[in-house]
Amino acid sequence: MKMWINGKNEDSCSSEYMDVRNPATGKLVDSAPAGCREDVDAAVEAAGRACGSWASLSPQERARFFYRAAGLVRERGEELALLLTSEQGKPLPEARNEIRGFASVLEYYCGLASTLKGEFIQGPGNGYSFTLNEPLGVCAAIIPWNMPALIMGWKLGPALVSGNTVVLKPASSTPLTNLKLAFLLGEAGLPAGVLNLVTGPGSVVGEAIAGHPDIRKLSFTGESGTGKRVAALAAPTLKRLTLELGGSDPMIVCDDAELETAVDGVLRGRFYNCGQTCTAVKRLYLFEGIAEEFLGLLERRVRSLRVGNGMLDGIDMGPLNNEGQRNYVAELVRGVEERGEGKILTGGKVPAGGGYSDGYFFEPTLISEVSPDSRLLTEEVFGPVLPVVRVQNLDEAIEEANRTRYGLGASVWTKNIDRVRQAYEQLKAGTVWVNQHLKVAPELPFGGTKESGLGRENGPYALSDYLESKTVMIRT
Ligand code: NDP
Repeated sequence: MKMWINGKNEDSCSSEYMDVRNPATGKLVDSAPAGCREDVDAAVEAAGRACGSWASLSPQERARFFYRAAGLVRERGEELALLLTSEQGKPLPEARNEIRGFASVLEYYCGLASTLKGEFIQGPGNGYSFTLNEPLGVCAAIIPWNMPALIMGWKLGPALVSGNTVVLKPASSTPLTNLKLAFLLGEAGLPAGVLNLVTGPGSVVGEAIAGHPDIRKLSFTGESGTGKRVAALAAPTLKRLTLELGGSDPMIVCDDAELETAVDGVLRGRFYNCGQTCTAVKRLYLFEGIAEEFLGLLERRVRSLRVGNGMLDGIDMGPLNNEGQRNYVAELVRGVEERGEGKILTGGKVPAGGGYSDGYFFEPTLISEVSPDSRLLTEEVFGPVLPVVRVQNLDEAIEEANRTRYGLGASVWTKNIDRVRQAYEQLKAGTVWVNQHLKVAPELPFGGTKESGLGRENGPYALSDYLESKTVMIRT
C-alpha cells in the first residue's frame, strides 16, 4: 500500500518500503512506505491548505462525511477485520469488534457536532462579550499497534468534527488497516488534505511530527518512555499534547465478590488481544480468604484457552504482535521461579509444536506468590502474563495497587457499597471499574494519571481539547 497525502496515494520521497508480516505465520501481508521528514512536511502542507475551507463548513456539514464514512466502514467491516487480524494477530471476532468501535466513535462525534458553541457573557462595563471556539489548525496523531483502528477513531472523531485537519502516523507493524480506513474516508467524500497518513519509523516520521512547528496539537498513544520523548520534542513549539501512555492496572477481588463473574473478568481483562491492551488487568490482588478457591477456578479456565492463528474459528488468543514484544514478555518470565519471584501455575513458555513455530505466540500464564519488587509488578506487562498477589484487606490491596508509577485503570470486585466507595475514592487511576474491567465507550472520558499520561480522550471533553477559545469584547 501507499501513503495517503492530500487525498491521493503517494510513495515516500525515500522510495523505501517496510514489510508488514502476519504475526501468526510470519508471512508477508503487504508493505507500506518507510516515510521520511519530507513526507511529513508534504502532509503538513496539504493539511494546512485544507484548513480554511474545512473550518468554514458548519460542524453539521462536517459530520455528514463521517456518517457516510461510518456507513462504508460497517459495509466493508468483514474485509477490514480480516486485514486487521492479518497484520495485528488478534482473533477475528475481536477485530470485527474493533472495526465496529471505529465506526461508533465517528458516529458519536457526529452526534456531538451540534453541541459545538461559544458562550455569551454579560459585561463587564458597558457592553457585552462572547467567546468563539475556533479549531486549532493542523493537528497530529501518533498511534500504536495494539488497537490501531479504534485508537485512530478516538483521535480523528474529535479532531475533524471540530474543524481541524490531521496528519496521522500509524504504527509500523500495523499501518494497513489505518491506510484502508483513510481511503474509505476519502471515498466518503472527505476533502483532499483534511486527513493525511504518513507511514514510517517512529524515530523519523514520529519525531518529525512531534517537533514540527506548524502542528498545533499532537495526540500520542504509546509507551510511557516514548511519550516522554515526544513531549520533549514538542516542547519547543509549545504544541498542545494529549498523551495516552502505558498502564499497569490492578484488579482487586474482595472476599464477598461473585467469584465466577470475577474469573470471567480476569480472562477477558488479561487475555483479550493477547494481553496487549493498555487497560488490561496487569496485576491481580486476591483477598486471602478466597485466594485458594479463586486461583483453582482461574487456573482451570486459563488452561482451557485456545491459542492459535486468529483467522481460525474458536481461537481465544492469538500471537503477540511482533517478535520484540514476544521476546520481552518471555524475558520477563524467564527465571522467575529460580529467583524466588513467584510460582508459575500455568504457562510461562513459548508454546511448542508446528502450528506455533512461525508466529509470535506465548502461553497464557498465571504466576502466584509474586514478590513485591518483581518486574512483573513494577513494569507494564504488555502480554498474556498475570502476576497474582494475596492481600489481607482492602486497605492493603489499595496501598499495593497504588504502588506504581502508572495510573490508567483499576477495578474492585465486591458487593459491599462501603468497599466500592473506598476503592473509587482512594485508587489513583483515570478509570475505576466496579465488578468489571476493560470496558470503554466513546461517551466516557478515557486517560490516565501519573506516568500513564496527560489529558483525556473520548466524550465531550476531547472536543474542547481541539478548540481554541477566543474572547470578543464589544463596547456599546
Ligand atoms: P510505542 O511507544 O513503541 O509506539 C507508539 C507509536 O509511537 C508508534 O506509532 C511508534 O512508531 C511511534 N514512535 C516510536 N518511537 C517514536 C519517537 N521517538 N517519536 C515519535 N513517535 C515514536 O508503543 P507501542 O506501539 O509498543 O504500543 C504499546 C504501548 O502503548 C503500551 O505501553 C500501551 O500501554 C500503550 N497504549 C496506551 C493506551 C492508552 O490509551 N493509554 C492505549 C493503547 C496502548 P513505530 O511503530 O514506527 O515504532
